[in-house]
Amino acid sequence: MVTARRYAGAVGKKVLILGAGFGGLELGTMLSEELGEEAEVTIIDRSDTFSFGFSKLDMMFRGASLESVSMPYSQAVKPGVTFLREEITGIDPESRSVTTSAGSHQADVLVIAMGADYDLDATPGLAEHGTEFYSFAGAEAAAGPIASFNSGHAVIGVCGAPFKCPPAPSECALMLSDDLTRRGVREQCEITFVMPLGTPVPPSPETSAALLSEFEDRGITFIGGRRPARIEPGKLTLDDQTELPCDLFLGVPKHRAPAVLIESGMTEEGFVPVDSATLKTKFEGVYAVGDCATAGVPKAGVFAEGAAKVVARQLIAEARGQEMTDPYDGRGSCYLEFGEDRIARVDIDFLSGPEKTGVFNAPSLELRAEKNEFGSSRKARWFGLRD
Ligand SMILES: Cc1cc2nc3c(=O)[nH]c(=O)nc-3n(C[C@H](O)[C@H](O)[C@H](O)COP(=O)(O)OP(=O)(O)OC[C@H]3O[C@@H](n4cnc5c(N)ncnc54)[C@H](O)[C@@H]3O)c2cc1C
Repeated sequence: MVTARRYAGAVGKKVLILGAGFGGLELGTMLSEELGEEAEVTIIDRSDTFSFGFSKLDMMFRGASLESVSMPYSQAVKPGVTFLREEITGIDPESRSVTTSAGSHQADVLVIAMGADYDLDATPGLAEHGTEFYSFAGAEAAAGPIASFNSGHAVIGVCGAPFKCPPAPSECALMLSDDLTRRGVREQCEITFVMPLGTPVPPSPETSAALLSEFEDRGITFIGGRRPARIEPGKLTLDDQTELPCDLFLGVPKHRAPAVLIESGMTEEGFVPVDSATLKTKFEGVYAVGDCATAGVPKAGVFAEGAAKVVARQLIAEARGQEMTDPYDGRGSCYLEFGEDRIARVDIDFLSGPEKTGVFNAPSLELRAEKNEFGSSRKARWFGLRD
């Protein structure tokens, strides 16, 4: 464990963080808190704002605009941390050098926190005839077709695994059912949810059972172990050639690391392999955290943040001439929209014990307050903003 004592001497290491999502923001915040002006941290992101992944569901079903859920990086400036708005165009992990739309950067420590990207072309017809809801643009665009869907067959389909926030497509199915009920058209509509995993949340059988029971109560058909293979107007074909009628397709595209990371030669099977305990890649002085990495944990913001904390503790310990011995424990809690405004929580522990566990906390209105606090505490910590 690293002590809270402030490091007195010069840190002397330039830390370059690629990506200002959950992982990059937490890492920059911790280094600034502990090392202050001596931190020498630069964060590069192509965007000028950050938004929580779960805001996509608010945009689809609660009328939220992208602007209303966006936080500007200009508010995230902290001692010792510089934000650069640039597109990362090349990474050389051997020399820890990075090229961007604005020039080049050299680092002593490079932390890749670039999230996951989507491969729409992996599912023929998704780009032309479906609506993916995993990007902010996609979620914004899906709000219209959802609002005008009054009859027929809606399919929520996961086109590949791993994918971020495993409960999110289940949340989408329940929120769609609520929306149709609210508008008085639920009886004219069918909802099917297709995913390549056998159950909605495999590491938590209790969560899966609760979701399956909720689907049954609401007449949502669950097809596990199958993947959408082709989307055509009015029709969806699964990977076993089963055909389903489909008037509204809400899709989770196949995920992969951003192209620039794949081109850097750092990825294997689409993502950057890391040591689960330390988040180190095989390249000296290069770490990877969050959705772009394969760290043995689910792809979710809370795990990107947890991994970033472990990297931060190592860098702080190094700066103080200490040794960091606590490995990443792979623990984190995910909140699930269960419909009718209720929230459930699943407490995941993937790395600290002999077995992966996922403890289910039944849906309640009280847990909504806890989810709200999850968002507002990060908003305050990273951006100094109050709700
Ligand atoms: C519908 C939905 C609901 C979700 N709900 C939850 C939830 O309730 N709880 C939870 O914990 N997680 C949730 N998630 C998942 C969560 O949003 C992600 O897992 C999380 O954002 C990953 O954090 P990250 O730091 O790895 O990457 P990201 O947050 O994706 O950040 C990566 C950053 O890298 C930048 N970047 C990428 N490529 C480049 C480039 N070439 N140049 C410059 N910048 C670049 C991007 O602009 C981005 O800011 C949800 C996701 C979805 C889609």
